[in-house]
Amino acid sequence: MSKLIVANWKLNPLTASEAQTLAESINPISKHEVVLCPPMAFLNLVKYHNLGAQDCSVEIKGAYTGQVSAAQLASIGIDYCIVGHSERRMGQGETDALINQKIKTLLEYKITPILCIGYGTTVEQDELEVVDVLKQQIIDGLAEVDPKKVVVAYEPVWAIGTKKAASPEHAEQIALYLKTKHQVGKVLYGGSVNSTNAQSFFEQHHVDGALIGGASLLADDFNKIIEL
Ligand code: PEP
Repeated sequence: MSKLIVANWKLNPLTASEAQTLAESINPISKHEVVLCPPMAFLNLVKYHNLGAQDCSVEIKGAYTGQVSAAQLASIGIDYCIVGHSERRMGQGETDALINQKIKTLLEYKITPILCIGYGTTVEQDELEVVDVLKQQIIDGLAEVDPKKVVVAYEPVWAIGTKKAASPEHAEQIALYLKTKHQVGKVLYGGSVNSTNAQSFFEQHHVDGALIGGASLLADDFNKIIEL
């Protein structure tokens, strides 16, 4: 079945030419919908049929030094934008209310938001508290928003960049919860997905794809995933 596979390059690679080479090494043909999200500085340099941004401003235009707006992203043909990544929630102190504003702005400009939610810095904490925390992130993040228009990426914090992915069954359980209790249209799983475990997530009925960090910087690995 066709899935949505989103590559989050984060603050990598270091140079424009490395970014161009990486994008050129990614197979342009896949039965899946593949979206590359390079750093903002390279968005207009990287050539790939589907590009996404890693964040955007809540502002549209004006005296907001250093920010990039949804209107500007739309004007260069960007279709997707990640919002609320745990690295921004923790590093930049982003709140659900701010993330909600970003989502509304993106939708106004016809860009599909990819809302990252997740909690738990240990597996145990995750099992005890995850649904309550996710519930709040979803309720506040998607306030006054049609949940069907948003892609939600469930990314347990303990699984990001740790080489310890959640089990596919856990991802499926959360995806089912988000779809049945919160009417979310599409749910991705993110957290240490690689070419060895990707298939097990893609086999889950309610998991619509993956958000991939580390493995998306390794062309061979990423190509194996999008060729599954
Ligand atoms: C991420 O940061 O969104 C992510 C899923 O990273 P990784 O695949 O490296 O765990």
